[in-house]
Amino acid sequence: MNQPAYRFCQWLLLVMVLLAPACLKAETADFAWLEDAGTDLSIENIMALPEQRWQSFDPHKVLNLGFSDRSVWLKVDVPPEPENRLLEIGYPLLDEVTVFWVQQGEVVEEHRTGDHQAFDSRPIPHRHFAFLVPSNTEAVTAYVRVRTQGSVQIPVRIVPSKQFLAEEHLSYGWQAVFLGIMLAMALYNFFVFLIVRQPTYLWYVLTVITAALVWLNFNGLLFQWLWPDTPILNRYFTAPAISLNIAFAALFTMSFLSLQRFSPIAFRLFQGVIALAVFMFVFGLFGAYQASTVIVSAFAAVVTPLAWLVGLWVWRQGQVLAGFYVLAWSPLLLGHLVLAVSKLGYLPSTFVTEFAPQFGVALEVILLSFALAYRINLERQWRQEAQDHALAVQRHATETLEARVQERTEELERANEQLKDISLTDGLTQVANRRRFDERLAVEWNRACRQQDSLSLLMLDIDHFKRVNDRFGHLVGDDCLVSIAGLCANEIQRSGDLLARYGGEEFSVLLPATSGQGARSVAERLRTVIADNPVYPGDGTGPVNLTVSVGVATMTPDSGSEPEALIRRADEALYQAKESGRNRVVEWVSSSACSDPDLEKSEQPR
Ligand code: GH3
Ligand code: MG
Ligand code: MG
Repeated sequence: MNQPAYRFCQWLLLVMVLLAPACLKAETADFAWLEDAGTDLSIENIMALPEQRWQSFDPHKVLNLGFSDRSVWLKVDVPPEPENRLLEIGYPLLDEVTVFWVQQGEVVEEHRTGDHQAFDSRPIPHRHFAFLVPSNTEAVTAYVRVRTQGSVQIPVRIVPSKQFLAEEHLSYGWQAVFLGIMLAMALYNFFVFLIVRQPTYLWYVLTVITAALVWLNFNGLLFQWLWPDTPILNRYFTAPAISLNIAFAALFTMSFLSLQRFSPIAFRLFQGVIALAVFMFVFGLFGAYQASTVIVSAFAAVVTPLAWLVGLWVWRQGQVLAGFYVLAWSPLLLGHLVLAVSKLGYLPSTFVTEFAPQFGVALEVILLSFALAYRINLERQWRQEAQDHALAVQRHATETLEARVQERTEELERANEQLKDISLTDGLTQVANRRRFDERLAVEWNRACRQQDSLSLLMLDIDHFKRVNDRFGHLVGDDCLVSIAGLCANEIQRSGDLLARYGGEEFSVLLPATSGQGARSVAERLRTVIADNPVYPGDGTGPVNLTVSVGVATMTPDSGSEPEALIRRADEALYQAKESGRNRVVEWVSSSACSDPDLEKSEQPR
């Protein structure tokens, strides 16, 4: 046989050995019960009762009588058997349990115990009530009187000592595992709470701790471990502990499922649950014991499926984490269902059915812890997305800002350009002003100097302009200046040439890379066009006939000379033109003599 298969068979055998006694034990004893109708019968009265007063029952089904103040008597006839046996009552929360062992009509042993008595009142120190069958050789009868304010459920059996021990190991081991899981989950999530400081984790931890306490109390372990000498605590523990567990579970549910956001109705419902739980906590401490246990049991039976349904509802509303919640809550619900069904007698009471709710709790606690871990991941994801979004918004804002700055810069540049244009343009005639002329002259001077090229300058002055002003007024004079600038601008079209208003009624024309002859012909063209075109001022006066005198100078600059020399020469030539009768072009030839008389003669004014 191969190794894994062999292992599997070993495991199967072990499970069968452990479960077989619980499931298949052959009962030889007879079980019967009756309820004392309040007459408080003594053991003698009970023994004297006729056989038909007793009702027999099947011990495989838990004797479950609900809630009752009355005493319940059990009669267990135990035939002789060679092995040692125990009478076990497997519900540790019974208030009073009194056992009378009767042999041949005589009470041979009597034990008074219950969870209202100190733990050492039990003949066998066990969390359940266990009593050794006093004889193996003779038939004995156990009369058991049970009185309790809590739920009257009496799981009773006669069990061989060996089997009792074997089952005890299994059951105790499971309790240890349960406690270990609860402690580990509570501790781990408590540390998470200390770090992330989110109340959800604290509610989870408190829910786990109270659930562990509730179940250890149900199993009689808290009494055995923590307060064996103070049975009075048992009376005050059960209902308040369950109430606290419900309150914390409700707080956890509200916060974990973000109920306020996803379902305000469920949120209000759970607020009600918490208020009721707090009330029951107080009632459990100060109210009637029986009433508080009844109410708290009913409350738990309603709240557990309610929480599951709310989880389902919120899940449908789109809360991702609610899926985990429903998944975690399901085994708990199922466990309670299995227990309830077995208590009602529809399922045989076994180890599995008995511990089903605890399995459910452990599984729930593990799944919820996983969900909480997943939540951390989910929140990190949300944070990351929010951060990315913020970054994108910031980036967009920066880009918009940059675009705006760029736009504004361009606008500013354009405005500067316009300002510069304005500052370099003559306001009246809209041709270049003196400043632009000076700048261009310096530039062209340097270029001509570098390239050893000729640079020409025309100085143009309107003849007898003072008279025009005197006769027609300054406004007409202005119109004449504008008109002459327009006529000149029309003639000066070559790129690189510059027409400027030099000052008053004087214009200058800079002609780069132009010889003296070329400059003369431009000057002549200007003189002719002005002389041929009288000005018609805007006010209707006129026409005004105007002429100009033009001084022409041409130089090929060298590094020793200055641009003022060119202006000076043009000025001298202009002076000559004025001197020699106006309405003419004179070119500078030398400082002593400027003009070419032949040329001038041919250009006599009309
Ligand atoms: P010429 O040059 O032929 O010797 O005589 P002119 O009368 O033109 O010479 P002058 O330099 O004595 O007079 C220039 C006149 O130009 C004086 C001034 O009234 C006029 N003038 C100068 N600038 C402006 C201007 O912007 N508008 C007007 N309406 N007149 C101006
Ligand atoms: Mg002048
Ligand atoms: Mg003049």
